Parts: sequence; structure tokens; C-alpha cells
Amino acid sequence: MKIYDVIILGCGASGLMCASNIGKKKSVAIIDVNESVAKKLKISGGGKCNITNASVESKNFDGDSEFLSYVLKRFSKDNLLDFLERNRVDIELRKGRYYFCKNSSQDIIDVFKKATKYSEIILNEKIIEVDKQGEIFEIQTDTNSYKTHSLVVATGGKSFQTLGASEIGLDIAKKFDMEVKDFSPALVGLTVQKEQFWMRDLSGLSCYVKIYVEDRVINEEMLFAHRGISGPAILSASLYWKKGTISIDFLPDKNILELIDGSKKQISTLIGLPKRLSKALLKALNVEDKECKKLSKIDKEKLSFIHKYSFSPAGNFGFTKAEVSRGGVKTNELHKETLESKKIKKLYFIGEVVDITGELGGYNFQWAFSSAYLCAKSVK
Ligand SMILES: Cc1cc2nc3c(=O)[nH]c(=O)nc-3n(C[C@H](O)[C@H](O)[C@H](O)COP(=O)(O)OP(=O)(O)OC[C@H]3O[C@@H](n4cnc5c(N)ncnc54)[C@H](O)[C@@H]3O)c2cc1C
Repeated sequence: MKIYDVIILGCGASGLMCASNIGKKKSVAIIDVNESVAKKLKISGGGKCNITNASVESKNFDGDSEFLSYVLKRFSKDNLLDFLERNRVDIELRKGRYYFCKNSSQDIIDVFKKATKYSEIILNEKIIEVDKQGEIFEIQTDTNSYKTHSLVVATGGKSFQTLGASEIGLDIAKKFDMEVKDFSPALVGLTVQKEQFWMRDLSGLSCYVKIYVEDRVINEEMLFAHRGISGPAILSASLYWKKGTISIDFLPDKNILELIDGSKKQISTLIGLPKRLSKALLKALNVEDKECKKLSKIDKEKLSFIHKYSFSPAGNFGFTKAEVSRGGVKTNELHKETLESKKIKKLYFIGEVVDITGELGGYNFQWAFSSAYLCAKSVK
């Protein structure tokens, strides 16, 4: 049986970036269960893929910040943008911070297809098990077995199983006695408890908010949904939320008490949010909707909680809706310079399967590409 120099498990964002940078001198195979490559990349960002962010710092991620900073410095967002420019992928900046493909995420997939033309791409095969005999790794899929000197695990997280996702990456790490943190859904909508069911009644409405969650502050748009709350602000908040309370400032750029001071207007009008939301908020804060000048001292106190509406969400929408999985192979198991396992030589883990997860905004692709690049340099 042929023994490859390198086999990459998973033909998603990180697997393709890794193969693209290994070069043609090594024999490389990439194995994936799907019938086509990079299915998540293809549909991400509404088909235009939010590839990175104008500001990429370790504070935008959940995970080992020292490890992360090291990797991001070696292949930064500027290196990624240069790579895309060199390959003539048109990129546009949205809202001054999010980099998207101008045309389609297929443009990036086409670049990778070209760059991996010397690699053997094996599709429609589900990886079942990995073993190591002496210096050689053996990979068992549902139809074949393969052998390799170096093995790169790029199998991603557990969310969106319809796109091929599985926990095989964690199973492989566990098999080699590496420490892992179980996957949990992240970048996902949150369900609410009975006291916040008023939010579900506002389904379809959105507003700009500031969210305080754990030690993080997130400024973005939130969306009321029929199952609870969602939108960019909530998705990013879900990354840090650990069953406790979150606090929402519904008027982040204003001061409600200054706003109402001496005004003859009705409060719900003055707040300046969509009327339905203003009315629901007043009800939730237990303040009667009336002329501002008629508000009592107690009313004003209650009203000030519009800047810190605190509550405990009930849960989240689950892996089927989560854009990523938090958790993965612990970074203390890996060399940050190479992404190689400290315990098992020539075994590497890259991308989402590693216990580093970014906020919404292109951070997860940046991590996938940065970790893949560094690994490729080492494997090469
Ligand atoms: C709907 C959606 C939208 C997203 N939008 C963005 C965005 O705009 N910006 C951003 O930064 N991030 C986004 N993400 C997250 C991003 O897609 C991932 O973080 C990124 O793809 C991770 O790259 P990866 O290579 O680690 O894993 P993946 O890209 O998921 O690749 C893993 C590959 O491994 C294969 N695989 C897994 N298990 C097996 C098995 N047992 N056998 C064979 N093959 C297997 C899978 O089929 C898959 O092709 C989005 C995710 C989703 C679900």
C-alpha cells in the first residue's frame, strides 16, 4: 500500500489552506466525507464568506491568548489579504470591519482547487478511525484504508452535521491520550425563559445594542426571533455565555435620563426604537407609557434599566444552528510553532478542531487559515 508523506483529514478551510502551502514535492492526500470540497466555506456569509476582520486580536477569541497571538502573528490578516489579492480574489470591506468576497466564496475555493492540484483529493469517504503502527499512521474510512508519515487533523467542529461535521477530530486526539474540551454550540441564538417571552413576540425586529457577558462587551445588532434572540450581537455573546446572566443596553449611544428630562413627549416615542419594541421594553421594565414629565422618581429608576436589562437565557438553539463549536483539542497539547502534538510526533491539529473559537466577523476563517499555514510550513 502507498505510504503518503502527508494525509490531511478534512477538506474544509484549514485542510485546503494547509495542502496549498505544502508544495508539490510531498505526496499529499486530503480525505473528506462530502462529495465536494469546502462546503462550509461555500455557504458561509450568505455565499460571500466573511473571510477576516479589519482588527484581529486575541480579545476577539475564546481560547489560549498566548498561543493564538503567536499563530496570528505568523500569518496575520494582512498576510491573508495579500494571499487573496495575489490570487485575484476580489474582497470588499463591509461596515468598516468585515472583509467579504465581492463576488462569491467560490472564488476562494477556486484558488484552493488550483493550489492543491498536486494533492490527491479523496471525497465521499467517512473517516472512521486512526491508528499508529511504529512511525506510520493508518487511516480507516468507511471504504478504504490509507497510510501516511504525517497526519494533519483538520476535521473542524461538530456544528452543521448536514455539511459533514463530526467529532472524529476529538476521537482521534483522545485515542492518543491528548486532553480535549468537549464541543458545545457557539455563535448561536439563545433561547429565553418565561419572563423574557416578550422578546419572542417581537420576532423579526432588530436593534443596535451593547451586551455585557462575562468579562466581555459586544456592540452589534441583535435580532428578536421566534425561538428567542439572535443576530450578530447575540451570536458573539453566545461564545462567552456560561449559563449566567447577560445584560443588554438597548440605548447604547444615549442616556435615557437626559433624553426624558423635561420632555412633553410620550416615553415610547422619545426612546426612538421601533414602537413595538419601546412599548414591550417599558412593559418589561414595569413603567407605564406616559408623558415624560409625568414620570415619578421610581419610574425613572426603573427606566434607567433600559441600559442594563439583565436576565439569564434558558439555553441556545443547538448544534444544528450554531456557526461554530466551542472547545476542541487543548492548546497545551500542541506546539504553537507547528500545531504538532507534543505527545505524538507528526500528528497535527488545525482549524476549528483546536480549542480556539472566534467571535462573529471572520475570526474563525482567519484562525483556520493562520493555523493551517503554520502547520504546512512545518510539514513541508
Ligand atoms: C453557516 C455557517 C456560516 C459561517 N460563516 C462564517 C463566516 O462568514 N466567517 C467565519 O470566519 N466563519 C464562518 N463560519 C465558521 C467557519 O465555517 C468554520 O470555523 C471553518 O470552516 C472551520 O474550518 P475547518 O477547516 O477547521 O473546518 P471545516 O471547514 O468545517 O472543514 C472540516 C471538514 O472535515 C470534514 N469531516 C469532518 N468529519 C469527517 C469525517 N468523519 N470523515 C470525513 N470528513 C470529515 C467535513 O466534511 C469538512 O469538510 C461559518 C459556519 C457556518 C456553519
